[in-house]
Amino acid sequence: MKLVSFRGIYPKKKKDTAGIELAQMRPIEFYNVSLKLPTVPESEPCVKVGDEVKQGTLIAKPAGKVGLNLFSPVSGKVLNIFEKMNSTGEQSKHILIMNDNKNEVQDLPDIGSISDVVLIERLKDAGIIDTISGMPSYLKYSYIGARSYKTLLVLLDSTDPNNTVNQTITECKMEEVVNGARYFMNITSATTITFVFTEANYKLATKLKKHIEENKKNYDFRVKFIPNKYPFDNPYILANLVCGKKINEKTSFLDAGITIESAESCYNFCRAVEFNKPLIAKIISVDGNNVSRKGNYIVQNGVSYDNILNFVGIENPNDNSALIDGNELSGIAQFNRDISISLLTDSIVFNKYPAYYDQKEYPCISCGKCAKVCPVFLNPKRIEAAYLDEEFDSVEKLKANSCIECGLCSYVCPAKRFLTQRISAAKEYLKIKKGGK
Ligand code: SF4
Ligand code: SF4
Repeated sequence: MKLVSFRGIYPKKKKDTAGIELAQMRPIEFYNVSLKLPTVPESEPCVKVGDEVKQGTLIAKPAGKVGLNLFSPVSGKVLNIFEKMNSTGEQSKHILIMNDNKNEVQDLPDIGSISDVVLIERLKDAGIIDTISGMPSYLKYSYIGARSYKTLLVLLDSTDPNNTVNQTITECKMEEVVNGARYFMNITSATTITFVFTEANYKLATKLKKHIEENKKNYDFRVKFIPNKYPFDNPYILANLVCGKKINEKTSFLDAGITIESAESCYNFCRAVEFNKPLIAKIISVDGNNVSRKGNYIVQNGVSYDNILNFVGIENPNDNSALIDGNELSGIAQFNRDISISLLTDSIVFNKYPAYYDQKEYPCISCGKCAKVCPVFLNPKRIEAAYLDEEFDSVEKLKANSCIECGLCSYVCPAKRFLTQRISAAKEYLKIKKGGK
């Protein structure tokens, strides 16, 4: 296969959170579940203050046609429903639940048959979210015709420098991942599953092949490798690298017939189908040079950054440190640690880098580094300048909409320009200009 020569950077050889057994975070006393995820409209509560809930009780459901079911992460009592800041910096409704330590569990009803219609319904009922696109999974497969997807890619790895969620789940929960992939296959018209790894994980791929063969899984699969370069696991780049299909504003993934799932979505789907478990937790890589126990943790929804840091331990509490939701290249700095994680938080990084507090940017020195590194061949400096000059026609001509927000341009910029943020804002502007489409 001819590889398209995208640009990118190689992350450090061995990621600090790789190869560590998946661990469950210990229970806490209070859970504060945000009803708004970054990419999904706010759900509306279906419990009230004072209600007793079990782990898995439905506590919020879509307010309109598009949305997500949310479940109690713990058995306990609803103490409050109130507005609070979430991880994207917006105010959103939260449900505060006090853990009663009774560990009572409420599962979904038995699924019965596993026809495609029933499986799609299970995605909806269990509140499964697509960890790649950030949309509720059922939307991808119901509204627009699941059968249009002829190619199913399952990403079991990551090129992200801090995130090792997919490879850890694949390593520790292989049976659930391969079964979940099969359920996704059942709702598409794909006749084979393509499992995607980076070249850094040949051993894991071999283990997967052996597992599928030994357990006589009754489906065709193939394994493909991509270079371990950030951001080559971005869906747009992945579709091009693995399938040779160019996806842009004019051709969607649906048009190209390609659907991409992650190891985590497969794992969650399998648990919803085989064990009747709704989604109540997120698997998160916790990384950074001020973290005592780096690794991948199963974190219940409603847990705050502070709760996680208390659990994993801080190396030196007196150091000036910065917390990032996401990776070091494109994550969002969080200045308030009393914020709940979202079901889309893949990694958090807690670094002793006082430099993160230095928000000062300097004039562009025209070094060209941002354009050299951009994986999709944009000129970030020119887009930023056009945006700041409010020349939105130029912003459009410079193809700001093709930006995948990988953060590489800001990362390499010696003048510390806020390139990614401005290009992202420019994209929003273009979207509004086109009537929100
Ligand atoms: S954030 Fe956008 S403009 Fe910057 S390097 Fe990534 S794709 Fe290119
Ligand atoms: S990397 Fe920064 S300083 Fe260099 S050209 Fe781009 S915006 Fe200017």
